[in-house]
Amino acid sequence: MIFKKEKFERHILLKKDVRDSILSYCKMKHPNEGILILKGKSKKGKITIDGLVIPPFSYSDPTFAGFPQSFLPLDLDYVGVVHSHPCGSAKPSLTDLHNFFGLVSLIVQSPYDDDDIFAWDSNGNQLSMTVID
Ligand SMILES: [Zn+2]
Repeated sequence: MIFKKEKFERHILLKKDVRDSILSYCKMKHPNEGILILKGKSKKGKITIDGLVIPPFSYSDPTFAGFPQSFLPLDLDYVGVVHSHPCGSAKPSLTDLHNFFGLVSLIVQSPYDDDDIFAWDSNGNQLSMTVID
């Protein structure tokens, strides 16, 4: 077995008000997928998510949500993307991994309750996450 050496284990800190906004956005988009850009900071493997941006020209249907990354303004505060899975689990699909953007991907599964939100890295490994005030 080959283990990829990671310098720091990543840990996600998610602001409570951001979490609440994500959940209400996903509920609003249901039964389609919703997608939002995560703003925050990354320091020594700790990724703090403290803001959200609605991506320009985003598109979504019940199985896919995305946006053309070429239209994104360059902003170093972008740490990743959150999207919803209106049906099925919060595991990233192959499409999700191919379209990975930034450092972390959050996926919210229906019915979008407080504990329906999960964090993943670009290899599809789950990351630990804490909700902070
Ligand atoms: Zn997905």
